[in-house]
Amino acid sequence: MSELLSVDAALRAVLGRASPLEAETVALATAAGRVLAVPAEARVDLPPFASSAVDGYALRADDTPGRLPVVARIAAGRPAARALAAGEAMAIATGGAVPEGADAVVPIERASVTDGVVDVPDRAQAGANVRPRGGDVAAGQRVVAAGVRLGAAQVGALAAAGVAEVACVRRPRVAVLTTGTELRRPGEPLAPGEIYESNGPMLAALLAGAGAEVTLLGPVEDDAEAHRRALASGLERDLLVTSGGVSVGPHDLVRRIEAELGVEEVFWGVAVKPGKPLAFGLRGRTLVFGLPGNPVSSLVTAVLFVLPAVRALQGEARPGPLYESGALARPLQPDRRRLEFVRARLAASDGGAALDPLPARDSHMIVRAAEADALVEISPGDVELEAGARVRYVRL
Ligand code: AMP
Ligand code: MG
Repeated sequence: MSELLSVDAALRAVLGRASPLEAETVALATAAGRVLAVPAEARVDLPPFASSAVDGYALRADDTPGRLPVVARIAAGRPAARALAAGEAMAIATGGAVPEGADAVVPIERASVTDGVVDVPDRAQAGANVRPRGGDVAAGQRVVAAGVRLGAAQVGALAAAGVAEVACVRRPRVAVLTTGTELRRPGEPLAPGEIYESNGPMLAALLAGAGAEVTLLGPVEDDAEAHRRALASGLERDLLVTSGGVSVGPHDLVRRIEAELGVEEVFWGVAVKPGKPLAFGLRGRTLVFGLPGNPVSSLVTAVLFVLPAVRALQGEARPGPLYESGALARPLQPDRRRLEFVRARLAASDGGAALDPLPARDSHMIVRAAEADALVEISPGDVELEAGARVRYVRL
Protein backbone atom coordinates (compact mmCIF):
# COMPACT_ATOMS: atom_id res chain seq x y z
CA MET A 1 0.00 0.00 0.00
CA SER A 2 2.82 2.38 -0.89
CA GLU A 3 0.85 4.72 -3.14
CA LEU A 4 -2.36 5.92 -1.53
CA LEU A 5 -4.90 7.14 -4.06
CA SER A 6 -6.77 10.35 -3.36
CA VAL A 7 -10.49 10.04 -2.63
CA ASP A 8 -11.29 11.78 -5.92
CA ALA A 9 -9.01 9.58 -7.99
CA ALA A 10 -10.39 6.46 -6.30
CA LEU A 11 -13.97 7.53 -6.96
CA ARG A 12 -13.15 8.21 -10.63
CA ALA A 13 -11.56 4.78 -10.91
CA VAL A 14 -14.74 3.21 -9.49
CA LEU A 15 -17.28 5.18 -11.50
CA GLY A 16 -15.32 4.71 -14.72
CA ARG A 17 -15.95 0.97 -14.35
CA ALA A 18 -19.57 1.06 -13.18
CA SER A 19 -21.56 1.18 -16.41
CA PRO A 20 -25.32 0.82 -16.33
CA LEU A 21 -26.85 -2.66 -16.34
CA GLU A 22 -29.54 -3.72 -18.83
CA ALA A 23 -33.01 -2.23 -18.87
CA GLU A 24 -36.24 -4.04 -18.11
CA THR A 25 -39.89 -3.08 -18.37
CA VAL A 26 -41.48 -2.18 -15.06
CA ALA A 27 -45.11 -1.44 -14.27
CA LEU A 28 -45.40 2.16 -13.12
CA ALA A 29 -47.08 1.01 -9.92
CA THR A 30 -43.87 -0.71 -8.81
CA ALA A 31 -41.36 1.71 -10.36
CA ALA A 32 -40.86 4.08 -7.42
CA GLY A 33 -37.20 4.11 -6.44
CA ARG A 34 -36.09 2.73 -9.80
CA VAL A 35 -33.95 4.63 -12.31
CA LEU A 36 -35.24 5.30 -15.84
CA ALA A 37 -33.10 3.72 -18.56
CA VAL A 38 -34.62 5.75 -21.41
CA PRO A 39 -36.61 8.98 -21.31
CA ALA A 40 -40.33 8.47 -20.70
CA GLU A 41 -42.64 10.37 -23.06
CA ALA A 42 -46.22 11.52 -22.63
CA ARG A 43 -48.81 9.26 -24.27
CA VAL A 44 -51.37 12.06 -24.45
CA ASP A 45 -51.54 15.81 -24.33
CA LEU A 46 -51.88 16.92 -20.74
CA PRO A 47 -54.50 18.11 -20.09
CA PRO A 48 -55.93 15.95 -22.93
CA PHE A 49 -58.56 18.65 -23.69
CA ALA A 50 -59.09 22.28 -22.76
CA SER A 51 -60.51 22.12 -19.27
CA SER A 52 -61.92 24.53 -16.75
CA ALA A 53 -59.78 25.63 -13.80
CA VAL A 54 -62.82 26.68 -11.75
CA ASP A 55 -66.50 26.03 -11.15
CA GLY A 56 -68.22 28.64 -13.30
CA TYR A 57 -69.69 29.48 -16.68
CA ALA A 58 -68.08 28.74 -20.03
CA LEU A 59 -68.78 31.50 -22.57
CA ARG A 60 -67.22 33.76 -25.18
CA ALA A 61 -65.22 36.59 -23.68
CA ASP A 62 -66.65 38.88 -26.36
CA ASP A 63 -70.17 38.32 -24.94
CA THR A 64 -69.15 39.87 -21.60
CA PRO A 65 -70.28 41.85 -19.74
CA GLY A 66 -73.77 40.56 -20.40
CA ARG A 67 -76.73 38.33 -19.57
CA LEU A 68 -76.53 34.89 -21.18
CA PRO A 69 -78.88 31.88 -21.11
CA VAL A 70 -77.33 28.80 -19.42
CA VAL A 71 -77.93 26.12 -22.06
CA ALA A 72 -76.10 23.11 -20.57
CA ARG A 73 -74.30 21.78 -17.49
CA ILE A 74 -70.86 20.25 -17.95
CA ALA A 75 -69.55 17.97 -15.20
CA ALA A 76 -66.01 16.55 -15.04
CA GLY A 77 -65.96 13.55 -17.39
CA ARG A 78 -69.25 14.59 -19.04
CA PRO A 79 -68.52 16.95 -21.95
CA ALA A 80 -71.26 19.06 -23.59
CA ALA A 81 -73.22 17.42 -26.39
CA ARG A 82 -72.72 20.37 -28.71
CA ALA A 83 -70.65 23.49 -29.26
CA LEU A 84 -71.43 26.75 -27.53
CA ALA A 85 -73.04 29.34 -29.78
CA ALA A 86 -72.60 33.11 -29.59
CA GLY A 87 -74.59 34.61 -26.75
CA GLU A 88 -74.77 31.39 -24.72
CA ALA A 89 -73.25 30.19 -21.46
CA MET A 90 -72.78 26.66 -20.11
CA ALA A 91 -72.35 25.86 -16.41
CA ILE A 92 -69.09 23.98 -15.99
CA ALA A 93 -67.32 22.18 -13.10
CA THR A 94 -63.58 22.28 -12.36
CA GLY A 95 -61.92 19.81 -14.74
CA GLY A 96 -64.89 19.85 -17.13
CA ALA A 97 -64.21 20.03 -20.89
CA VAL A 98 -64.56 23.61 -22.13
CA PRO A 99 -66.95 23.32 -25.09
CA GLU A 100 -66.08 24.24 -28.67
CA GLY A 101 -66.94 27.88 -29.19
CA ALA A 102 -66.19 29.00 -25.61
CA ASP A 103 -62.93 30.78 -24.86
CA ALA A 104 -63.28 31.73 -21.18
CA VAL A 105 -64.80 30.56 -17.92
CA VAL A 106 -66.22 33.07 -15.45
CA PRO A 107 -66.04 31.80 -11.86
CA ILE A 108 -69.33 31.18 -10.05
CA GLU A 109 -68.40 33.93 -7.53
CA ARG A 110 -68.23 36.54 -10.33
CA ALA A 111 -71.70 35.85 -11.73
CA SER A 112 -75.30 35.47 -10.58
CA VAL A 113 -78.02 33.32 -12.06
CA THR A 114 -81.72 33.98 -12.15
CA ASP A 115 -84.24 31.88 -14.07
CA GLY A 116 -81.58 30.10 -16.12
CA VAL A 117 -79.85 33.30 -17.17
CA VAL A 118 -76.37 34.18 -15.93
CA ASP A 119 -75.49 37.81 -15.34
CA VAL A 120 -71.79 38.55 -15.83
CA PRO A 121 -71.10 42.11 -14.70
CA ASP A 122 -67.41 42.34 -15.73
CA ARG A 123 -65.55 41.87 -18.97
CA ALA A 124 -63.81 38.43 -19.13
CA GLN A 125 -60.40 37.96 -20.73
CA ALA A 126 -60.13 35.43 -23.55
CA GLY A 127 -58.50 32.31 -22.10
CA ALA A 128 -59.42 33.15 -18.51
CA ASN A 129 -59.69 30.01 -16.34
CA VAL A 130 -59.19 27.71 -19.32
CA ARG A 131 -56.38 25.18 -18.98
CA PRO A 132 -55.26 24.73 -22.57
CA ARG A 133 -54.94 21.25 -24.05
CA GLY A 134 -51.29 20.13 -23.79
CA GLY A 135 -50.48 23.08 -21.50
CA ASP A 136 -48.53 20.85 -19.07
CA VAL A 137 -46.97 18.55 -21.66
CA ALA A 138 -47.75 17.59 -25.28
CA ALA A 139 -48.04 13.97 -26.44
CA GLY A 140 -44.57 12.69 -27.35
CA GLN A 141 -42.72 15.18 -25.18
CA ARG A 142 -40.39 14.03 -22.43
CA VAL A 143 -41.91 13.66 -18.98
CA VAL A 144 -38.88 12.27 -17.10
CA ALA A 145 -35.30 12.08 -18.37
CA ALA A 146 -33.17 8.94 -18.42
CA GLY A 147 -30.98 8.57 -15.35
CA VAL A 148 -33.57 9.97 -12.93
CA ARG A 149 -34.58 7.92 -9.91
CA LEU A 150 -38.36 7.95 -9.77
CA GLY A 151 -39.81 9.63 -6.71
CA ALA A 152 -43.43 10.34 -5.89
CA ALA A 153 -43.67 13.43 -8.11
CA GLN A 154 -42.20 11.62 -11.14
CA VAL A 155 -44.52 8.64 -10.67
CA GLY A 156 -47.46 11.05 -10.49
CA ALA A 157 -46.36 12.89 -13.64
CA LEU A 158 -45.93 9.66 -15.60
CA ALA A 159 -49.34 8.39 -14.52
CA ALA A 160 -50.96 11.69 -15.55
CA ALA A 161 -49.28 11.45 -18.95
CA GLY A 162 -50.74 7.97 -19.50
CA VAL A 163 -47.52 6.02 -19.01
CA ALA A 164 -48.32 2.57 -17.61
CA GLU A 165 -44.89 0.96 -17.98
CA VAL A 166 -41.39 2.36 -17.94
CA ALA A 167 -37.96 1.07 -18.95
CA CYS A 168 -35.80 0.94 -15.83
CA VAL A 169 -32.31 -0.33 -15.33
CA ARG A 170 -32.52 -3.62 -13.52
CA ARG A 171 -31.58 -3.66 -9.86
CA PRO A 172 -27.94 -4.56 -9.25
CA ARG A 173 -27.47 -7.92 -7.54
CA VAL A 174 -25.10 -7.32 -4.69
CA ALA A 175 -23.40 -9.77 -2.34
CA VAL A 176 -22.27 -8.54 1.07
CA LEU A 177 -19.71 -10.90 2.55
CA THR A 178 -18.34 -10.38 6.04
CA THR A 179 -15.11 -12.05 7.14
CA GLY A 180 -13.66 -12.74 10.57
CA THR A 181 -13.44 -15.83 12.77
CA GLU A 182 -14.48 -13.67 15.74
CA LEU A 183 -17.85 -12.74 14.23
CA ARG A 184 -21.25 -14.02 15.27
CA ARG A 185 -24.65 -13.03 13.99
CA PRO A 186 -26.79 -11.13 16.44
CA GLY A 187 -29.07 -13.59 18.23
CA GLU A 188 -26.34 -16.24 18.55
CA PRO A 189 -24.46 -16.71 21.85
CA LEU A 190 -21.02 -15.09 22.12
CA ALA A 191 -18.02 -17.20 23.12
CA PRO A 192 -14.97 -15.49 24.65
CA GLY A 193 -13.19 -13.31 22.09
CA GLU A 194 -16.21 -13.11 19.81
CA ILE A 195 -18.22 -10.06 18.79
CA TYR A 196 -21.45 -9.49 16.97
CA GLU A 197 -21.03 -8.78 13.34
CA SER A 198 -22.57 -5.48 12.35
CA ASN A 199 -21.14 -4.69 8.94
CA GLY A 200 -23.27 -7.23 7.10
CA PRO A 201 -26.65 -5.85 8.23
CA MET A 202 -25.32 -2.28 7.98
CA LEU A 203 -24.07 -2.60 4.40
CA ALA A 204 -27.15 -4.54 3.36
CA ALA A 205 -29.35 -1.74 4.70
CA LEU A 206 -27.28 0.95 3.00
CA LEU A 207 -27.17 -0.70 -0.42
CA ALA A 208 -30.75 -1.97 -0.42
CA GLY A 209 -31.77 1.62 0.27
CA ALA A 210 -30.05 2.59 -2.99
CA GLY A 211 -31.94 0.01 -5.04
CA ALA A 212 -29.67 -3.06 -4.79
CA GLU A 213 -30.93 -6.63 -4.37
CA VAL A 214 -28.70 -7.68 -1.52
CA THR A 215 -27.67 -11.19 -0.49
CA LEU A 216 -25.88 -11.47 2.86
CA LEU A 217 -23.06 -14.02 2.90
CA GLY A 218 -21.05 -14.92 5.95
CA PRO A 219 -19.64 -14.25 8.35
CA VAL A 220 -16.87 -16.55 7.10
CA GLU A 221 -13.88 -17.68 9.13
CA ASP A 222 -10.37 -16.45 8.40
CA ASP A 223 -9.60 -19.65 6.56
CA ALA A 224 -8.57 -19.89 2.91
CA GLU A 225 -11.03 -22.60 1.92
CA ALA A 226 -13.98 -20.87 3.58
CA HIS A 227 -13.00 -17.62 1.86
CA ARG A 228 -12.67 -19.34 -1.52
CA ARG A 229 -16.17 -20.81 -1.35
CA ALA A 230 -17.84 -17.62 -0.15
CA LEU A 231 -15.96 -15.28 -2.48
CA ALA A 232 -16.65 -17.51 -5.49
CA SER A 233 -20.35 -17.31 -4.71
CA GLY A 234 -20.20 -13.54 -4.17
CA LEU A 235 -18.44 -13.02 -7.49
CA GLU A 236 -21.51 -14.34 -9.32
CA ARG A 237 -23.23 -11.02 -8.62
CA ASP A 238 -22.95 -7.58 -10.26
CA LEU A 239 -21.12 -6.28 -7.23
CA LEU A 240 -19.36 -7.98 -4.35
CA VAL A 241 -18.53 -6.09 -1.22
CA THR A 242 -16.52 -7.74 1.51
CA SER A 243 -15.76 -6.42 4.96
CA GLY A 244 -12.60 -7.19 6.91
CA GLY A 245 -9.44 -8.99 5.97
CA VAL A 246 -8.01 -6.39 3.60
CA SER A 247 -5.19 -5.11 5.80
CA VAL A 248 -1.68 -6.50 6.08
CA GLY A 249 -2.13 -9.14 8.81
CA PRO A 250 -1.61 -12.89 8.32
CA HIS A 251 -5.38 -13.44 8.55
CA ASP A 252 -6.15 -10.89 5.87
CA LEU A 253 -6.98 -13.31 3.10
CA VAL A 254 -9.50 -11.45 0.98
CA ARG A 255 -7.22 -9.93 -1.67
CA ARG A 256 -5.09 -13.03 -2.07
CA ILE A 257 -8.04 -15.38 -2.58
CA GLU A 258 -9.77 -12.90 -4.86
CA ALA A 259 -6.65 -12.75 -7.02
CA GLU A 260 -6.72 -16.57 -7.22
CA LEU A 261 -10.32 -16.35 -8.35
CA GLY A 262 -9.45 -13.96 -11.18
CA VAL A 263 -10.18 -10.58 -9.62
CA GLU A 264 -7.98 -7.88 -11.12
CA GLU A 265 -7.17 -5.29 -8.50
CA VAL A 266 -7.59 -1.69 -9.64
CA PHE A 267 -6.39 -0.10 -6.40
CA TRP A 268 -5.66 -0.86 -2.76
CA GLY A 269 -5.24 2.01 -0.37
CA VAL A 270 -6.94 5.38 -0.32
CA ALA A 271 -5.68 8.49 1.47
CA VAL A 272 -8.68 8.75 3.74
CA LYS A 273 -9.39 8.38 7.43
CA PRO A 274 -11.09 6.13 8.29
CA GLY A 275 -10.88 3.58 5.49
CA LYS A 276 -7.30 3.57 4.27
CA PRO A 277 -7.06 -0.15 3.29
CA LEU A 278 -10.02 0.00 0.88
CA ALA A 279 -9.49 -2.35 -2.07
CA PHE A 280 -11.26 -2.25 -5.42
CA GLY A 281 -11.08 -4.60 -8.38
CA LEU A 282 -13.00 -6.23 -11.19
CA ARG A 283 -13.76 -9.69 -12.38
CA GLY A 284 -15.43 -9.47 -15.76
CA ARG A 285 -18.18 -6.92 -15.18
CA THR A 286 -18.40 -7.62 -11.45
CA LEU A 287 -17.23 -4.75 -9.26
CA VAL A 288 -15.36 -5.98 -6.20
CA PHE A 289 -14.93 -3.85 -3.09
CA GLY A 290 -12.91 -4.87 -0.07
CA LEU A 291 -13.86 -2.68 2.87
CA PRO A 292 -11.90 -2.58 6.11
CA GLY A 293 -13.57 -4.41 8.98
CA ASN A 294 -13.78 -1.59 11.48
CA PRO A 295 -17.47 -0.73 11.40
CA VAL A 296 -17.01 3.02 11.00
CA SER A 297 -14.38 2.50 8.28
CA SER A 298 -16.80 0.17 6.52
CA LEU A 299 -19.60 2.71 6.75
CA VAL A 300 -17.51 5.63 5.52
CA THR A 301 -15.95 3.80 2.58
CA ALA A 302 -19.31 2.33 1.61
CA VAL A 303 -20.91 5.79 1.58
CA LEU A 304 -18.04 7.33 -0.37
CA PHE A 305 -17.44 4.57 -2.93
CA VAL A 306 -19.86 1.63 -2.91
CA LEU A 307 -23.08 3.61 -2.79
CA PRO A 308 -22.08 5.72 -5.83
CA ALA A 309 -21.14 2.50 -7.66
CA VAL A 310 -24.54 0.96 -6.91
CA ARG A 311 -26.21 4.10 -8.22
CA ALA A 312 -24.00 4.23 -11.32
CA LEU A 313 -24.84 0.58 -12.10
CA GLN A 314 -28.45 1.75 -12.23
CA GLY A 315 -27.56 4.51 -14.68
CA GLU A 316 -28.25 7.30 -12.22
CA ALA A 317 -27.10 10.54 -13.82
CA ARG A 318 -25.58 11.88 -10.60
CA PRO A 319 -24.39 8.90 -8.58
CA GLY A 320 -22.83 11.06 -5.88
CA PRO A 321 -21.69 11.30 -3.23
CA LEU A 322 -23.48 14.61 -2.97
CA TYR A 323 -21.43 17.17 -1.06
CA GLU A 324 -23.28 19.99 0.65
CA SER A 325 -21.78 22.94 2.42
CA GLY A 326 -22.12 24.04 6.01
CA ALA A 327 -20.21 25.43 8.97
CA LEU A 328 -18.54 23.74 11.94
CA ALA A 329 -20.49 24.22 15.17
CA ARG A 330 -17.33 23.90 17.30
CA PRO A 331 -13.55 23.93 16.79
CA LEU A 332 -11.93 20.84 15.32
CA GLN A 333 -8.34 19.62 15.12
CA PRO A 334 -7.63 18.14 11.66
CA ASP A 335 -5.61 14.99 11.13
CA ARG A 336 -2.00 15.89 10.32
CA ARG A 337 -1.60 13.71 7.25
CA ARG A 338 -4.85 12.34 5.87
CA LEU A 339 -8.14 13.69 4.62
CA GLU A 340 -10.66 12.76 7.30
CA PHE A 341 -14.40 12.21 7.32
CA VAL A 342 -15.64 13.17 10.75
CA ARG A 343 -19.03 12.02 12.03
CA ALA A 344 -21.24 14.94 12.96
CA ARG A 345 -24.73 15.94 13.95
CA LEU A 346 -26.42 18.16 11.44
CA ALA A 347 -28.59 21.03 12.61
CA ALA A 348 -30.25 23.88 10.76
CA SER A 349 -29.17 27.36 11.86
CA ASP A 350 -29.74 30.88 10.53
CA GLY A 351 -26.50 30.66 8.60
CA GLY A 352 -27.43 27.30 7.00
CA ALA A 353 -26.27 23.83 8.03
CA ALA A 354 -24.32 23.65 11.29
CA LEU A 355 -22.19 20.55 11.82
CA ASP A 356 -21.43 19.43 15.34
CA PRO A 357 -18.61 16.85 15.30
CA LEU A 358 -19.16 13.87 17.60
CA PRO A 359 -16.49 13.55 20.26
CA ALA A 360 -15.58 9.88 19.69
CA ARG A 361 -13.60 9.60 16.47
CA ASP A 362 -12.35 6.01 16.83
CA SER A 363 -13.34 3.85 13.90
CA HIS A 364 -14.65 0.93 15.98
CA MET A 365 -17.29 3.04 17.72
CA ILE A 366 -20.28 2.26 15.56
CA VAL A 367 -22.85 3.02 18.24
CA ARG A 368 -21.42 6.53 18.65
CA ALA A 369 -21.27 6.88 14.88
CA ALA A 370 -24.96 5.98 14.66
CA GLU A 371 -25.75 9.32 16.30
CA ALA A 372 -24.23 11.09 13.31
CA ASP A 373 -26.22 12.21 10.34
CA ALA A 374 -23.35 13.62 8.31
CA LEU A 375 -19.74 12.97 7.40
CA VAL A 376 -17.75 16.19 7.40
CA GLU A 377 -14.76 16.34 5.09
CA ILE A 378 -11.71 17.77 6.88
CA SER A 379 -8.51 18.42 4.93
CA PRO A 380 -5.25 17.44 6.60
CA GLY A 381 -3.41 20.21 8.45
CA ASP A 382 -1.80 21.42 11.65
CA VAL A 383 -4.05 24.34 12.47
CA GLU A 384 -7.22 23.89 14.48
CA LEU A 385 -10.35 24.86 12.56
CA GLU A 386 -12.44 27.47 14.32
CA ALA A 387 -16.14 27.23 15.01
CA GLY A 388 -17.88 28.67 11.96
CA ALA A 389 -15.26 27.38 9.49
CA ARG A 390 -16.85 26.45 6.14
CA VAL A 391 -16.80 22.71 5.43
CA ARG A 392 -18.27 20.23 2.98
CA TYR A 393 -20.27 17.25 4.16
CA VAL A 394 -22.09 14.17 2.91
CA ARG A 395 -25.37 13.18 4.52
CA LEU A 396 -25.67 9.75 6.09
P1 AMP B 1 -10.17 -6.46 9.96
O1 AMP B 1 -10.32 -5.41 8.92
O2 AMP B 1 -10.66 -7.81 9.51
O3 AMP B 1 -8.78 -6.51 10.48
O4 AMP B 1 -11.10 -6.03 11.16
C1 AMP B 1 -10.85 -4.85 11.88
C2 AMP B 1 -11.71 -4.77 13.10
O5 AMP B 1 -13.07 -4.73 12.72
C3 AMP B 1 -11.58 -5.95 14.03
O6 AMP B 1 -11.68 -5.46 15.34
C4 AMP B 1 -12.78 -6.80 13.69
O7 AMP B 1 -13.18 -7.61 14.76
C5 AMP B 1 -13.80 -5.77 13.35
N1 AMP B 1 -14.76 -6.29 12.38
C6 AMP B 1 -14.47 -6.91 11.24
N2 AMP B 1 -15.58 -7.27 10.59
C7 AMP B 1 -16.62 -6.85 11.35
C8 AMP B 1 -18.04 -6.95 11.21
N3 AMP B 1 -18.61 -7.52 10.15
N4 AMP B 1 -18.79 -6.42 12.20
C9 AMP B 1 -18.23 -5.83 13.26
N5 AMP B 1 -16.90 -5.71 13.44
C10 AMP B 1 -16.09 -6.23 12.51
MG1 MG C 1 -10.61 -9.69 10.26
